[in-house]
Amino acid sequence: MRIYNTLNARKEELVPIEDGKIKMYVCGPTVYNLIHIGNARPMIVFDTFRRYLEYKGYEVTYVSNFTDVDDKIIKKANEEGVDSAIISERYIEECKKDMAGMNIKPATVHPKATEEIGEMQALIQTLIDKGYAYESNGTVYYRTRKFKGYGKLSKKNLDDMQSGHREIKVTGEEDKEDPSDFVLWKPKKEGEPSWESPWSDGRPGWHIECSAMSKKYLGDTIDIHAGGEDLIFPHHENEIAQSEAANGCIFSNYWMHNAFLNINGSKMSKSLGNFFTVRDIAEKYDLQVLRFFMLSAHYRSPLNFSDDLMESAKAGLERILNAKKKLDYAEQNAEGRSFMFEEGEDQDFGAEYLKKFEDSMEDDCNTADAIAAVFEFVRAINSTINEKSSTALAELAEARLVQMCDILGIILDQEEESLDVEIENMIAERQAARKNKDFATADKIRDKLAEMGIVLEDTREGVKWHRK
Ligand code: AMP
Ligand code: ZN
Repeated sequence: MRIYNTLNARKEELVPIEDGKIKMYVCGPTVYNLIHIGNARPMIVFDTFRRYLEYKGYEVTYVSNFTDVDDKIIKKANEEGVDSAIISERYIEECKKDMAGMNIKPATVHPKATEEIGEMQALIQTLIDKGYAYESNGTVYYRTRKFKGYGKLSKKNLDDMQSGHREIKVTGEEDKEDPSDFVLWKPKKEGEPSWESPWSDGRPGWHIECSAMSKKYLGDTIDIHAGGEDLIFPHHENEIAQSEAANGCIFSNYWMHNAFLNINGSKMSKSLGNFFTVRDIAEKYDLQVLRFFMLSAHYRSPLNFSDDLMESAKAGLERILNAKKKLDYAEQNAEGRSFMFEEGEDQDFGAEYLKKFEDSMEDDCNTADAIAAVFEFVRAINSTINEKSSTALAELAEARLVQMCDILGIILDQEEESLDVEIENMIAERQAARKNKDFATADKIRDKLAEMGIVLEDTREGVKWHRK
């Protein structure tokens, strides 16, 4: 498989450190509000990438953090007059609900910054001991110019960067040796969460969090580090500087970055106020539609959010769901079980589309082309499968369709699952009506179920049901 590595600005063959295993870290959200659909883009695309790696047989250790100590969290906590842990815990739970709705697999580990302070302090101490960091009035800074590789990810040059804003010294930064130095540890202000440290009672800077959590859960060198492209600089550049200086080895072999989700041509973001939360979208659409919409573009291409594109994602998804229903129907109503003579040529039905799907995913996780292969397959299903098809052919097609959709994280049986819930609710209502001797209502419900093709059976364990 080839993936685009931001570090070397080219597509490269993915060669894991250890055969058959992938260690991957994806920067997660800062939890002070409901996540917006821009935040959902890296979650969806890297979850799909992970699913594909697992399909190929890799054992993937997937770590994605929650940043639960941050100025914005503290601000929100002060506004509400509560502890900042109340805010972060609340939004971690909400974020997990959104992730489940979008069918994003839980990470192997979801570390929280506040639970890893010891690791961060140890890393900061190592950097001080090695001369890469210094303390000044309780703040610890990273000595950026000492790290020779600084700028290798973002292709920035420290001198160019500085000639632009030499005069802009932000207040509180007088203690820095150099304007490009960044904070590893800062002393607390009144009302802020803090931890004791050799330098001051305070809290870690944002960048050191990811370096420490990645080291703890994945080791000094990992296969892939990922996130949105806004993180390339300074966040990921600083992570490299911290980790490589402290550990004395390469931090991550591959760096993957998704492009922005835009709205009217600008990046969707909390600060611009031009966002929709995942919750907003869930009011209007099944979140599978959102997932399908996100995957309809290549992850490195900007994607503009619009009602039209959401509607076309919805229609596209429905075409796939209908093909699945058609296959279910064919399986249930086929006359013959085994492949029939005239189906000879179809005994490998779907293989060519699965191959196209895989080739697209192999080429830098090109989900847009992979989805095009699914649509081609759906067209082939619609023209090949009919009432005369054998069960074997319909089952083969279904297995391949489900396989492709599993990799994309699209559940084809979801409707059936929710229908099951609806049926069970109707049966419960009928039981309640019977108990109340309201036989008219009970009969009405039974007739409606019969119309839906549901057969009821009274047994000693209660009412059982099956489809006709
Ligand atoms: P944040 O909570 O802002 O740190 O963002 C969490 C993740 O969402 C990071 O990987 C960001 O790069 C990503 N992200 C934020 N906004 C967008 C957007 N509009 N499009 C794509 N990714 C985004
Ligand atoms: Zn990070």
